[in-house]
Amino acid sequence: TDIFPGRRNSAGVDLADPLVREPLLDRLAALDAREWGAAPTVVAEAAGAADRTRPVMSPHDGTLVGHVLEAEPADVDAMLARGTAAQIAWDGAGGEYRARLLERAADLFEEHTDEILELCRREAGKTLPDAVLELREAVDFLRFYAQEARRHFTGNGLLLPGPTGEENRLRLHGRGLFVTISPWNFPLAIFIGPAAAALAAGNSVIAKPAEQTPLIAAFAVQLCHAAGIPDDVLQLAPGDGRVGGMLTGDPRVAGVAFTGSTATAHLINRALAMRPGPIGQFIAETGGQNALIVDSSALPEQVTRDVMSSAFQSAGQRCSALRVLYLQEDIADSMLAMIRGAFDALQIGDPALLATDVGPVIDRQAQGQLNDHLAEMRVAGRNVWQAVVPPTCAHGSYVAPAIVEIDAIGDLQAENFGPVLHVARFRAGQLADVVEQINATGYGLTLGLHSRIEGNRRLVERRARVGNFYVNRNQIGAVVGSQPFGGEGLSGTGPKAGGPHYLARFATERVTTVDT
Ligand code: GLU
Repeated sequence: TDIFPGRRNSAGVDLADPLVREPLLDRLAALDAREWGAAPTVVAEAAGAADRTRPVMSPHDGTLVGHVLEAEPADVDAMLARGTAAQIAWDGAGGEYRARLLERAADLFEEHTDEILELCRREAGKTLPDAVLELREAVDFLRFYAQEARRHFTGNGLLLPGPTGEENRLRLHGRGLFVTISPWNFPLAIFIGPAAAALAAGNSVIAKPAEQTPLIAAFAVQLCHAAGIPDDVLQLAPGDGRVGGMLTGDPRVAGVAFTGSTATAHLINRALAMRPGPIGQFIAETGGQNALIVDSSALPEQVTRDVMSSAFQSAGQRCSALRVLYLQEDIADSMLAMIRGAFDALQIGDPALLATDVGPVIDRQAQGQLNDHLAEMRVAGRNVWQAVVPPTCAHGSYVAPAIVEIDAIGDLQAENFGPVLHVARFRAGQLADVVEQINATGYGLTLGLHSRIEGNRRLVERRARVGNFYVNRNQIGAVVGSQPFGGEGLSGTGPKAGGPHYLARFATERVTTVDT
């Protein structure tokens, strides 16, 4: 049975309907001239602030999207004090109250669809279909955690009475002030998801967006404040790793929810451990080295479709994305020929155009790292097929999608966060071995299997240490409440975003026992 009966996810925007799409495109074009802004919720030193702003550029063409004022130590300190003071009342207001405000925020996100889609495209380089999915996920997180707040925080908590007739109650409370540190690849959904969970559980929040995408985060925080979430309960701290360091090293912080690289997760975990004060709660969702295993019973058309979306949708910039495709030797050549056919048809370019499949990567640094990886692969004598970036994209941070043949997943050192698919081969009978090689990376986020052989499915399911296992479909696009998302090992601490155990990790448990 469904653990979340009656729940509905957001309807999104039907881009296939010209009566919806055409006016939307006109409205988005009209928003292109708008300049966006982001600033810390508290600016302690207003003097000279205007000179400290930094421009935010579009990854597509380097044009100006807006300006960000990054948080200074004095701002961070003031926000830590404010957030700590505000938490008690927020926790005391109860789960129902908090749920309603989060639901109102979800409604406002939907009302501001145009601005959100525009910011996803301009600031993060998302294609329009990706931007629509991003908005939907953000709205779903807000509504889901609101409902979870009711489930966890509104009951009477009565437990079995003790032998003397005493009354026992277990209640959940917010832990205190939570810091959320979010990535640029889901600049809205994964910015607001962990913050909404922390808020739903009765914590105050300081949210630090990725330095590449502060503008959409600032817009989201504005909408939350407009929905009635107090501005000392949810505060914004734009900035780079230095701001993250100031926050995570402070003893006033009760916990951190982080999504980003495994290396940064280790740094935060260390900072939390080294500071004086409470033992901090740490929730991390990090990288992956995600594989898809295809055996000879798979349906080639279905495999092609799912490989293309898993590896190249969102320009491969999802931590769920497919990095290593394992093809059974008997079908590898024919399968690869089909995949290359689809690969050659990929449209690379301006995310504003609906025909675009692959837009830019987030910035020049990401572009450089991916190109370096491809250069290394060529030097190592690997077969590399690479598409071509059209000349109209010369001013953006584009990486031409690529397919690289390797021997095994262990040939790769790091996660390559972009539109690069690696392909390896295995022989019939080696399936268990392949799963061992995948486990040996230490990552455990997503894994795909295309097979019509029940025994193969059971073998992989039993042995693979991954958070999300997808059979006969693509391995990206986990849906809130349906595919709770998150990994293990080097991929994260759990609990799963959009799942039934997430909210409780943001809370502390208190028991009251009253004897007569
Ligand atoms: N939840 C996303 C998906 O299933 C990935 C999240 C991420 O990239 O951090 O595709």
